Amino acid sequence: MKIEVKKLNALKKYNGSFAFEYRPSADACLIPRCSIDGDVKVKGSYEIYEDDSVGVSFTVAYRISGQCSYCLKDAVKDIESSFEVLFVPEKDPDNYSYDGVSIDLETAVNDAILFSQPNIILCREDCTGIDVNN
Ligand SMILES: [Zn+2]
Repeated sequence: MKIEVKKLNALKKYNGSFAFEYRPSADACLIPRCSIDGDVKVKGSYEIYEDDSVGVSFTVAYRISGQCSYCLKDAVKDIESSFEVLFVPEKDPDNYSYDGVSIDLETAVNDAILFSQPNIILCREDCTGIDVNN
């Protein structure tokens, strides 16, 4: 999951696209009693600008499975979310930085997985919790 900026610059390939599957770490899911089910699909495109900053647009898609946050029944939720980030070849608090040679997308993808997560998942949209009459 690297973009070889220096090499692509030499080849004058200033635009391109990528797609890969990524296995997040076991603690990547913040929702209690849930986990990310399988790989995260990442696809996107990049553009290398004249000042060597690199704009990256990408989408993460993955499935969360586990227990409903309200009633603890089995629940799954498919997530798809898009992000636009900028990598710059110097330290910059507002953007991701890289060494001017190659960009490793792992941190940006991990951040995207965190930012795209819902706070809860439900077994069905109108779940009101454990039915005390049963
Ligand atoms: Zn439920």
